[in-house]
Amino acid sequence: VKTSGKRNYCFFDAEFSERLRARHQYEMELRYAIEHDQLVVHYQPRVSMANGITTSMEALVRWHHPTRGLVEPSEFIPLAEEAGLIARLGERVIDKVCAQLAFWARHGRHVVPVSVNVSALHFQDADPAQTLASCIARHGIDPGLIEVELTESSMMGDSETVASAIRAIRNMGITLLVDDFGTGYSSLSQLQRMDFDVLKVDRAFTAQLEQSREGTVFYTAIITMAHSLGMKVVAEGVESIGQARVLKSLECDEIQGYFVSRPLPPSEVQPLAPQVSFA
Ligand code: C2E
Ligand code: CA
Ligand code: CA
Ligand code: CA
Repeated sequence: VKTSGKRNYCFFDAEFSERLRARHQYEMELRYAIEHDQLVVHYQPRVSMANGITTSMEALVRWHHPTRGLVEPSEFIPLAEEAGLIARLGERVIDKVCAQLAFWARHGRHVVPVSVNVSALHFQDADPAQTLASCIARHGIDPGLIEVELTESSMMGDSETVASAIRAIRNMGITLLVDDFGTGYSSLSQLQRMDFDVLKVDRAFTAQLEQSREGTVFYTAIITMAHSLGMKVVAEGVESIGQARVLKSLECDEIQGYFVSRPLPPSEVQPLAPQVSFA
């Protein structure tokens, strides 16, 4: 018994150290990727329910890995956060978005604002307001073209550093959006006090819309309260015309999701926004 216990321990130990080694390797590759331009940004439109016109696009990062192909953010954002690389990654994404907007503007293209995802951990390692200000200045773009998406967890613990960074972003004329709304615990009045303009409702609620009454109940309550507090509501993850129709009847302001468009590489983003009909 003693021997086999020991053997098990050794086996586990070998497996564990192999996992550690693989993780370390992946982390080094990610560090390299961030510094050597292997990150690419795709853009997903968000459209107005009033007229189907694109109001904004969300910047979603992908990793163009030399052997693994295009890697989804869910596979490397958590690692970037754990390894202390998220501030640098966020900076690269913001810089790329500003460069892209400047490029489109130079070519006389119709441009709409782009929202960037800023991780809660970015605030711990650096000042995202500073990052945004320097990228906007470097590329000479209008700050009104940049929007920032923050999850509720960024605002928790109400640290004064985070609050003042958010105020600084706001004061630059940047629109603030709450991402994945409904998955955290912040109150709407708290979000309004912090001057958020838009609530992006998590796609889990959108998926429930045609399935059960709960989705509709949740959306109805949120839309009523958000509107009375002067905030707009965006539904995330809209995949069907049925969901879009329900959301329109509930007076949801904007939608985003595969029903409108998948995230697209810059070369496939249409100069003139796609128009969607909900009829
Ligand atoms: P998110 O911010 O909630 O972004 C929306 C995600 O939902 C995207 O996944 C998008 O492709 C996906 N999506 C859009 N429409 C639909 C739909 O109709 N159905 C379904 N099932 N999914 C839809 P993606 O691009 O894989 O990004 C995943 C997450 O990674 C993002 O979730 C965000 O939290 C994070 N992320 C992406 N880019 C960045 C970035 O530049 N910085 C940081 N910090 N996080 C990022
Ligand atoms: Ca987002
Ligand atoms: Ca989201
Ligand atoms: Ca406001």
